Amino acid sequence: MIDFAIPADLAAERDRVRRFVIDKIVPYERDPRLTAHGPTDELRQELVELARAEKLLTVQAPESLGGRGLTHIEQAVIYEAAGWSTLGPVAMNCAAPDEGNMFLLSKVADPDQVQRFLAPVVAGHQRSVFAMTEPDGAGSDPAQLSTAATFDGENFTINGRKWLITGANGAKTWIIMARLASNPHLPEGPTLFLADGDEPGIVIERTMNTMDRNYVAGHGVVRFDNLVLPREALLGEAGQALRYAQLRLAPARLTHCMRWLGAAERAQSIAVEHARTRTAFGKPIGEHEGVSFMLADNEIALHQCRLTIWHACWLMDKGEKARHESSIAKSFVSEELFKVADRCVQVLGGIGISDETVVEMIFRDMRAFRLYDGPTEVHKYAIGRKVLRG
Ligand SMILES: Cc1cc2nc3c(=O)[nH]c(=O)nc-3n(C[C@H](O)[C@H](O)[C@H](O)COP(=O)(O)OP(=O)(O)OC[C@H]3O[C@@H](n4cnc5c(N)ncnc54)[C@H](O)[C@@H]3O)c2cc1C
Repeated sequence: MIDFAIPADLAAERDRVRRFVIDKIVPYERDPRLTAHGPTDELRQELVELARAEKLLTVQAPESLGGRGLTHIEQAVIYEAAGWSTLGPVAMNCAAPDEGNMFLLSKVADPDQVQRFLAPVVAGHQRSVFAMTEPDGAGSDPAQLSTAATFDGENFTINGRKWLITGANGAKTWIIMARLASNPHLPEGPTLFLADGDEPGIVIERTMNTMDRNYVAGHGVVRFDNLVLPREALLGEAGQALRYAQLRLAPARLTHCMRWLGAAERAQSIAVEHARTRTAFGKPIGEHEGVSFMLADNEIALHQCRLTIWHACWLMDKGEKARHESSIAKSFVSEELFKVADRCVQVLGGIGISDETVVEMIFRDMRAFRLYDGPTEVHKYAIGRKVLRG
């Protein structure tokens, strides 16, 4: 049976999350600690403590780590509510990149790594990064990975350069992708490593100036300068980084869809209110078909996006990888929600591009969503190949 009903307890929790975000988190959207490089660590910690007090911190984490072990469908409902403010997921510790990193570490890390690198992130005490993208190597095509690791039987030594690394400045738990060179001890190839952000071999060159500002500490350019790590730094099996990256990305790209759906709904609610109250040519602008059709297109898109997300979640909750469906969801939802945000700017007229409302920030922040965790074209490239294979 196909059932779209949200169970009463989940609906109640969704409403509680939405209330928490509106009452406690939205007021921080004008806090000066929400900078051009994202929320500062100080602001994040303050928000995290608010969520902790409401027992809304890291609810998605496995029960063994103190979370509630939410299913993917449950996450869809809760993250959409959290996404009403871009600071909601930061407060609840379900924002990128920590959310995806926690998921990956909960699947792949050994017990010692869980205690050292995962547990403090779940507890909201420290942040994490996933360092893959490179200026001259890995990007859409991670197989071009150029950061190099060698292994002498005792220690790894890593050298290379990465950029667009979200949250790099100040993060303690580092997941680093590097290409392990041929050696007599371990399989070669793309490999994941765990490191402490305080290691002297991790050099933050700078924080990039980008058009978004919803991720804590922004996005860094990073150099690994003879970063020496012990054998225990190996995350999972050597040579398997691309497989683990896929394991992380399928659910992680869906959770982006969930959070941005909440933000797009917020933008729509502001546009609707404006269309009801602002008048032009003798009536509220919402009564002009040109405006009401924009709001209707938004409503249709929001509904389609929600169903697309729920379907992929439903498959994953049944134990399927749903890579194809999560690719469809990521490409469709990111493109559609960006159009929703753009139409909201249009409905607001001139103030749409000002910070008089939060719509302008949502529009700018959402632009990047069409690029990270697989740009739309790369998902279409994968979908197209699957279609042609039949
Ligand atoms: C806000 C933000 C945060 C990010 N955070 C992180 C992070 O924390 N860690 C990390 O490792 N990376 C991060 N990234 C990087 C992100 O994963 C990459 O931007 C993404 O994988 C694309 O790679 P690229 O930027 O090198 O673009 P490129 O690979 O250079 O692609 C450029 C263009 O070519 C197109 N293209 C590529 N291949 C094809 C194809 N086969 N068919 C058609 N078109 C194609 C792409 O769609 C894109 O439009 C982040 C990016 C952004 C924008």
